[in-house]
Amino acid sequence: MIGAYGCGRHCGQALRKSRAPLQPVVVNVGALGDARQGSLFRAIAVKEAEVVAHEAGHVVGAALYGRRTLHAQVGHEPHVAFDEDPFRCRWEEPLAVATLGGPVAGGMTLHNVAPPPAEVMTYHLAKARAGGTGTCDECRLAELLVVLHGDEPDARLAERWRAHWRHSVDLFDRLEVRCQVNKLARALRTEIHLDGSAIDRIIDRPMLERVPPELAP
Ligand SMILES: [Zn+2]
Ligand SMILES: [Zn+2]
Repeated sequence: MIGAYGCGRHCGQALRKSRAPLQPVVVNVGALGDARQGSLFRAIAVKEAEVVAHEAGHVVGAALYGRRTLHAQVGHEPHVAFDEDPFRCRWEEPLAVATLGGPVAGGMTLHNVAPPPAEVMTYHLAKARAGGTGTCDECRLAELLVVLHGDEPDARLAERWRAHWRHSVDLFDRLEVRCQVNKLARALRTEIHLDGSAIDRIIDRPMLERVPPELAP
């Protein structure tokens, strides 16, 4: 069984669709002036930087607690796969950091490290309570919280979600962690797909594994 974060199919999209359908946008790039072409290409580059940092963040978040990665890829189907289903192991902090490492590292490229809005948490917690979880990061975290603390009200689970988020931001804000994310993101951008041994050659696993205990209360 492979544990994977299916980062290309976020249920946040389903949440948006339930209100206003997203319309495909077709742009004739050749007809745009130089300035608008430039801003379009800059927007694509910003998105690409966010995606590669997001996938690198999952890998590094898992590596902080010694977990290995089978592969990571970007391109049209960005995701990370681990050699075991992380949700068979109900060890809260490592699973939360591996899950949130993606959106936190991706958000850092946009200088936005705010946790998901309350309505996004509520939507995914309700979905997890109904047993209908998917593979997006929000579904994964909601499932973890519901399995471990399902007897608590949603407001308390949302507090736990935000606490894990803050902890992940603190970890990924550390220079040595950011360096590993950046190295891996650069390699992913070039290679598109990296297997576990390639990842191990790029990141400094022993150094990463020394990080979390120093932050533990
Ligand atoms: Zn993700
Ligand atoms: Zn989902």
